[in-house]
Amino acid sequence: MPVGTQATVKGLTIDQVRATGAHMILGNTYHLALRPGHETVRKLGGLHGMTGWDGPILTDSGGFQIFSLDAINDISEEAATFRSHLDGAVIRLTPEHSIEIQESLGSDVAMVLDHVVALPAERDLVQDAMERSIRWAGRCLNAATREDQAKFAIVQGGLDVELRTQCARELASMDFQGYAVGGLSVGEAPSEMYRITAATCPELPEDKPRYLMGVGRPIDLLESVARGIDLFDCVMPTRNGRNGLAFTDGGSLKFKNAIHREDNRPIDETCPCLACKHSRGYLRHLFNAKEMLGPILLSIHNLTYYQTIMQGARAAIERGEFDAYLAEKKRGWGEVASA
Ligand SMILES: [Zn+2]
Repeated sequence: MPVGTQATVKGLTIDQVRATGAHMILGNTYHLALRPGHETVRKLGGLHGMTGWDGPILTDSGGFQIFSLDAINDISEEAATFRSHLDGAVIRLTPEHSIEIQESLGSDVAMVLDHVVALPAERDLVQDAMERSIRWAGRCLNAATREDQAKFAIVQGGLDVELRTQCARELASMDFQGYAVGGLSVGEAPSEMYRITAATCPELPEDKPRYLMGVGRPIDLLESVARGIDLFDCVMPTRNGRNGLAFTDGGSLKFKNAIHREDNRPIDETCPCLACKHSRGYLRHLFNAKEMLGPILLSIHNLTYYQTIMQGARAAIERGEFDAYLAEKKRGWGEVASA
């Protein structure tokens, strides 16, 4: 899922987002509840009406943002209390309120409010937050009033396999339409993230989507698919695109670099995107001149690239050749084949 934090995938029209091959997009509850406000979003036709996106939309619960923005004031069994990064106002978010906001936003998939802890942390703290996340997941399920909105639970438990599997089992016994692995990609080594993902996925229902939140690099996507993940969201393709970095099968290219100055080749001859109709030299010029088209074109290319590697993964799985596909991509990216 391309990330549309403020009800827009930064710099792209909705037709351009669709042309990247994306099926589903993500909006951030925290940001949209603060501005313009979820009631305003509802009056403007919800996220679908505002954006014109006719595919599925997933909204997060706000949990990760309020913890990651270090805005948290207090956490109790009842609610998370935090300060708005816009005007400093104190806001109290309960699991029930998070669901009410997401129902107003009109997303197709709502995430439960979870208690995220910064890692590394004491095991007691991680366990406490994990157990609270399970209780909050139950409250979210009870608070839901819209039949047309799926609810996904979030597995927590830090880097502790025992806590993760316990959390996954308890959530799997509840009636959610999908399951996410949360609290990862927060600075731990990729090998740690893969270890936790590999231990968690077997505990989750096989016939429901598994979503790894906030991940990641192209290799992280494929390594996680190998361990049982179906769905991802990440700002990497768009954020890196805005900063002049393009992902390719041969690794990444930096367009602020003078090496591209008189290069007539496209980023990737096989890529169908708008950016790849232009030369590397032109793209480098756009970044050098700080023109807005540069970040737009590289965002389009990177989103197209991410969708292309996922399409390739789906096709390889159907052929029964995913391992070979992963090994080939890793060779191109210069990653060690056995990692
Ligand atoms: Zn391209």
